[in-house]
Order: sequence, then C-alpha cells, then structure tokens
Amino acid sequence: MSKKYVYFFNEDYNKIENPRNLLGGKGAGLAEMSSQGFPVPYGFTVTTEACTRYYADGEKIADEIVEQIMEKVEMLENASGKKFGDPKNPLLVSVRSGARISMPVMMDTVLNLGINDEIAEGLAKLSGNPRFAYDSYRRFIQMYSDVVIGLNKSHFERILDEEKEKRGVTLDTELTAEDLKELVALFKRQYKEEKGEEFPEDPKAQLLEGVKAVFRSWNTERANYYRKMNGIPHEWGTAVNVQMMAFGNMGENCGTGVAFSRNPSTGENKIYGEFLYNAQGEDVVAGIRTPLSIDKLAERMPEVYEDFCNTAKKLEKYYKNMQDMEFTIQDGKLFMLQTRNGKRTATAALQIACDMYDEGLVTKEQALLMVEPQQLDSLLHPTFDTAALKAATPVGAGLPASPGAGAGKVVFHADDAVALKNAGEKAVLVRLETSPEDIIGMDNSQGILTARGGMTSHAAVVARGMGKCCVAGCQELKVYEEERYFELNGHTVREGDIISLDGSTGNIYLGEIKSVPAAITGNFERIMNWADEVRTLKIRTNADSPKDARQAVEFGAEGIGLCRTEHMFFEADRIKAVREMIVSKTQEQRRAALAKLLPMQRSDFEGIYSAMTVYPVTIRFLDPPLHEFLPTKEEDIVALAAELNVTVEELHATIASLHEFNPMMGHRGCRLSVTYPEIAEMQTRAVIEAAINVTKVHPEWNIVPEIMIPLVGEPKEMKFVKDIVVKVADEIIAESGVNLKYHVGTMIEIPRAALLADEIAKEAEFFSFGTNDLTQMTFGFSRDDAAKFLDAYYSNKIYVSDPFARLDQNGVGKLVEMATKLGRSTRPNLKVGVCGEQGGEPASVEFFHKVGLNYVSCSPYRVPIARLAAAHAAIKNK
Ligand code: PEP
Ligand code: MG
Repeated sequence: MSKKYVYFFNEDYNKIENPRNLLGGKGAGLAEMSSQGFPVPYGFTVTTEACTRYYADGEKIADEIVEQIMEKVEMLENASGKKFGDPKNPLLVSVRSGARISMPVMMDTVLNLGINDEIAEGLAKLSGNPRFAYDSYRRFIQMYSDVVIGLNKSHFERILDEEKEKRGVTLDTELTAEDLKELVALFKRQYKEEKGEEFPEDPKAQLLEGVKAVFRSWNTERANYYRKMNGIPHEWGTAVNVQMMAFGNMGENCGTGVAFSRNPSTGENKIYGEFLYNAQGEDVVAGIRTPLSIDKLAERMPEVYEDFCNTAKKLEKYYKNMQDMEFTIQDGKLFMLQTRNGKRTATAALQIACDMYDEGLVTKEQALLMVEPQQLDSLLHPTFDTAALKAATPVGAGLPASPGAGAGKVVFHADDAVALKNAGEKAVLVRLETSPEDIIGMDNSQGILTARGGMTSHAAVVARGMGKCCVAGCQELKVYEEERYFELNGHTVREGDIISLDGSTGNIYLGEIKSVPAAITGNFERIMNWADEVRTLKIRTNADSPKDARQAVEFGAEGIGLCRTEHMFFEADRIKAVREMIVSKTQEQRRAALAKLLPMQRSDFEGIYSAMTVYPVTIRFLDPPLHEFLPTKEEDIVALAAELNVTVEELHATIASLHEFNPMMGHRGCRLSVTYPEIAEMQTRAVIEAAINVTKVHPEWNIVPEIMIPLVGEPKEMKFVKDIVVKVADEIIAESGVNLKYHVGTMIEIPRAALLADEIAKEAEFFSFGTNDLTQMTFGFSRDDAAKFLDAYYSNKIYVSDPFARLDQNGVGKLVEMATKLGRSTRPNLKVGVCGEQGGEPASVEFFHKVGLNYVSCSPYRVPIARLAAAHAAIKNK
C-alpha cells in the first residue's frame, strides 16, 4: 500500500504517533476537536510529509497525492451531503496552512474555494440569498489572486473601494447582490489583465493550486527568516487543511471571530476576543471593519455566546493551556475552525502559568513548561520610569496590543528599521497595518505602531510572539508611508523624529521617555523560584565588572563563569601601561609596565569578589592578540612614542612587527604566557592578593579563586602555565598566613584540547567550554567575519541558525560531550561548564544539561532565561 498523505479529520487519529508533526498544529487541533465531539466542519489534512515530498519532487504534487486528495474530497461530499463543483448543491471549502509550530508569516487562508460563475448562481438559488453567494465569490477571487497567485492585493482593494464610492456606501456589507456581481466581473478583468489568462473556473484546479500555494509559502524569504529566528528546521514542511465552509456572511445572524480563552496580553482569566456580524475570517484581522468585543455577542446571541464560552473552557481544560480559537456562526449555530495554544506576552505567560497552577489545572512542572525561556527577554529590558510616564502627556492612543516600552526614531518601512539597527540606533516602525513582509522590520524595531487592526491583527499577534512592544489600531493616526510622515491629533511626526510607545496602555508620546531597569518580582519571581527547585544545572554569569556581577546576582546568577581580564585593560587609565607592556623590548621593561598594572588588576578583582560574596569566581587570564591594544591613529602613536621615549618610526616598526595574518589563530591565549611568563605571574599575583585581602575582611565568604587558562591545545602547555601560577600563588599564600585555596583549570576552545581532554584533565582542575572559539575552530569560520557569508548558508538551507548563537549540537556538541567524558575519565569529579555565548540560549542549555555539564555561564541579562531553560531541560529529560 502506498504511503498515506491525506487524513480526514479524526481518521486514524489514535494511530498517528505524533499528530502535530504529521498534521501540523492546526490539523492536529481540528482532528482532536473532531474526535472530542466539538462542532467542527468536516475536512481533511494534507500532511507535512506531502509538503516535503512536493519539494523532493521538484515542486510538483505527485499523482498519488492528487489521487488521495480527491478521494478525501469525495469523503467530504458524502459527509456533508454536498458536491464539490456541482452548481445544484455546491460544496465550498477553505484551504489553510498549518505547520507544526504556527508561523504567522506563511500563507494563511483561502476561503470559498470551489466556486465559479455557474456555481455562484446555483448557490444564490439554493440559499435564496444572492448577496451571500456573490459576496463569497468576490472574496474568493480576491484571496485567490492575492495568496495563491501573488497579484497585488491593493489593486483589488482599490476596485472594491471604487465600487463602494460609486454606490455611495462605506461598508462592504452595504453592497447589494448586484453590486457584488459587478465586482466579480471587475475582479476577473483585473486578474486577466495582470495574469494574462482567464480566472480558473475548474474547482479541482483551484484546489490543487491552493494546496501548492500553501506548500510554496513554506519557502518564502520571510518564512526562512522566521525559521532562522526561531530555530525551526527547514525539513519540517507545512500541512494543508481543507475544510467545508461554514458561512459567516449569510446575514445578520451569522458572523465570525477570533478569541483567546484568557487575555493574551495580560493573562487575565477572561475570554478575550473580537468578532464581526455578517463577515468572513479575514475581515476580523484585516482591520477594514472595526471588530466588536466578544462580550457584545452575549447581548444579541446569548446562547451562542454561552456555547462558545463553554467550548473555550473545555478546550482549555483538555489542552491544559490557553487557547487561541477561530469560530464562525452560521444561522445562529457555532462552528469551531481552529484551536491552538495561544501566543501570549511574557507577562501573560507568567500570569496564566501561575493561575492555572492555582486553579489546579496544571502541575508546577507543566506550569513551568508554559513559559518560553526566550520570552523572558522582553521582561528583562528597561521599562518606562513611572514618574516620567506620569509627567508626560500622550498625544494619542491605540490598542495596547503587546506590552513593553518602545522608544526610538520613527521609520515607515521595514528596511529602514534594519538600517537603523545596523547603525546602532533604535527604530519604531509605524505602518498603516503590518503584513508578513514586515516581520524583519518588526524584529529590528523597539516598537510597532499601526493605524489599522485590532488586538488580533497581524501586528499584534506577531509582536506578542516576539515580545515586542506594539500599539495597534490607533484610529486617529493618519500614516503617509510613501511621504514618510504621520499625523496624530494635530501633530505631524516625520521619519527620524523620536516617539515613545507604551504597549501596556496603548499611549503614544512624542520624544523619548526615561526608562528604568527591570526587576524580578511577583509572578516572575514565583516562576523563577519554581525553576530553581527543579533545575540541576547551575547558572553562572560572564561578568567583568562589579556592576555587571551585581546585576547578574540580582537576576539569580550563582557565580561568575568567565571574567575576561582584558576588558579591564581597555579603560583609559590603564591602556597606557598595557601598551607600554606590549611594545617593551626587554623583560625588564615589560616587568616595569606590568608592575604598574598590578595594583589596578588587584583592585578590580577585589571589587568582583566583594560583589559576588559567597559565589565562586572564575578569572580567565589574558586572551586576545596583543595588537588589539595598540593605537591605530597617528596622533595616538605619536603620543605613545613620546611617553615611551622612543621615536615614532621605532614605534611604527614595533607595531608592524606585531602584525599577524590570522590573529585569532595567532599569538593569544595561553601562548602569551608561554612567551611572556611574567604576564601570568602578574595576573596570578593580582588574583591571589585580592582574594587574600578580601578574605581578611570577610573570611565567611570562603573565597576560592578559580584561575582559568585560555586556548590550551596541549597538556604540556597547560602544565607549563599552571606551574607558573602555582609557584607564584603558593609563595604569596605562604607569606600571607591566610589559608587560601584556589583552583587552576582550563578552557576547552581548541578541538585538539577536546581530543586530548583526558590528558589535559591531569593538570586542569576544571573545564569550561569556550564555545565561541570552539565553534570558530571546529567550523574553521572566523567568528568576526562569518556573518557576512552565513546568510547564504541560511537561504540555501545548509544551516538553520547561527552556530555562534545556538550550539551546533551535531559537530561542536559532539566535541563537548566527548571532552566531558574524557575529562571525567581522568578526574571523576571534574567540574565542567560552558562560557561561550551559547550558554544562555535555551536549546543549547538543554543540550548542556543532557551531556551532564555542571553549569552554564551567560551574560547577566540572560541569567533568568538560562534558569528557566535549565528547568525545562530537567523536566523534559527526567
Ligand atoms: C569562548 O571562546 O567561547 C570564550 C568564552 O572566550 P572569548 O569569547 O573571550 O574568546
Ligand atoms: Mg575564547
């Protein structure tokens, strides 16, 4: 028997091992709802495997899949008692995409498919409602032309607007059957003009083109961008759902809407949604008519409202999660068209997780899994200062679609937001309404402001998913995108002017409002405490200053995993001494320069120990290529030459002699200590003396410095540097009379170190994976240049995501796992951590947990994310 590519809703549902993977999120939800007896219109799902096959077959739907689709159409006909393509009793369907994870950038929906002139006439007769029949028909042509064929939708909108103007009406619903019939003719003419062929009349061809369009929408530039942003594999593919139409546009006892079982912005436990009478799906999200709050439904159709609320509660109980539902009311009867776990803001996610736990609906562990670690990022950034906010007067307000503080220069186009971000500036994207193409611009903005659209509009949904501040549907806002300015209640704001958006109230302000750092309180604190109860991985931070260290401790860090000593060298008062050290000709000169640095380093470390109190601190010895510290501007070179008492020519010659072709693979890391042992001596002295000084005041902190040697690739090299450290440290400790303990460990950053980890562990008392360098050296990609060419790797689907941001588990991960095992074969209690950038990235954190690392270390602002990610990892890998 050939493979099954198409499933009727609920067909073989219990036999499918992983419904979401095969049927996509939407398909699985529809199948599940059908099997639970919820009112779902009949339909079928073309699987994600059919999509993968479509691409494997060179963008063709194989005959056997076409056959299976047509078989299911027949099943649909039998179930519904209607016939696809039959003017006497027509079956119209919707075609919708649905990947494993909902992707708002993909093709969404084509409604009323399976219609043509003859069928529209038949539908008019059968329903006795020609207005409805021609409204459905014109909608189909409009959507098909836009999403299936890719014609410019604004041309069709313009024709619709002209028709309304001609008839002297403002709303689509005011157009008569005759008007709509004329509109159909105009739309078809437009289609022919642009496409160069007649509008397709054959329902079967319409259906297959619709399915193909969904498959193609998996592979657009914006879909690729979305996947890269979220680490979704290209191989997954999308499913297609074909479903019998339930009509919300048959009159005033019909309607359609979108609703969440709880408020997706605040998390409040109250149904939250919008709907429109006499309308179809897109009307609610498109922002053409202003939708009504779902509460209004209770007034006119109390039974339907109650039915819907009960359904929502049941679904929530069933899925143990907040649901995002689409529904249609046809002649006073409720139909459910979709349910899925709803996207929500971080604030709402925390509220819902805590509430559902308190309601006894979920366990603590399930509650933790309801909050995405990466989402917390939006809560860790500054919020507007309450006093500054109170003092400011808003110039207008829209809907508070996604909370947060968004301030920056106004831009009107996605590209301009990207350009500003690249220039290190902040942008606020202002649009009439957003569409999927704007996703890159939204990602690169501080906030989004739109004139159209409700709380469930594209802008609102996507912004909430990204944790971006968004104010949507500001009625008074007049946006002139081409002319690059907007007007709001008498104010004119041009591109480049600064505005501030408060996503929690919807208020819009001119200028920049002061912001304050975030704090972990309330629900956030509660969830973080639960995370700490279940995680086994420790979370440390990468911090080079007492200020960063204190911030990290506030965010829950349990130690410093990486203190980069060179960052302290760049400060104005010490760069001179550093430069002096570098250009020294003799060891004496170098020692003299190092002696100037010693007190400064010592006081730096005293500050760090004091900030970290009882928590462990790992200090990494000097790492970068020395030329990074040298002056490049002529005036600085002249000044330095005078300072050092050498000629400018001599200094130029020294600088030239330090030039390296591949500095990242050059004279750096422990190689500096091999050539200039006096550097390691000075740094050891600073680390140990600082620890002794602080211990004298605070013996209860029990400080045990961890000295980390970077870029080791050879056991003897490790021993060489360690011997220097031990000799100096032991002498100082003996003299001090303080019983200070310390450890000497290494970073594993070079593949050779991973290969020889068992031998290196004979000397090293701990390991920390420097996955920035380990990625660089394993791939052979320069970490400073790779971004320039990696884009081509993403668009050609060679890599899904940046290996410097998310660990390459297959390659670099294999080295991490192997080196950990080898290291512990020598030293069973070897403490192993990671301090590369990937240490704060949730998927990488899960991997580090699985391979048995003791801790991850990340920047202070990612500490809470890592805490939750570590809890997720512990729960998922029990
Ligand atoms: C690393 O290489 O992963 C690391 C943490 O060190 P640095 O980024 O300073 O090279
Ligand atoms: Mg490194």
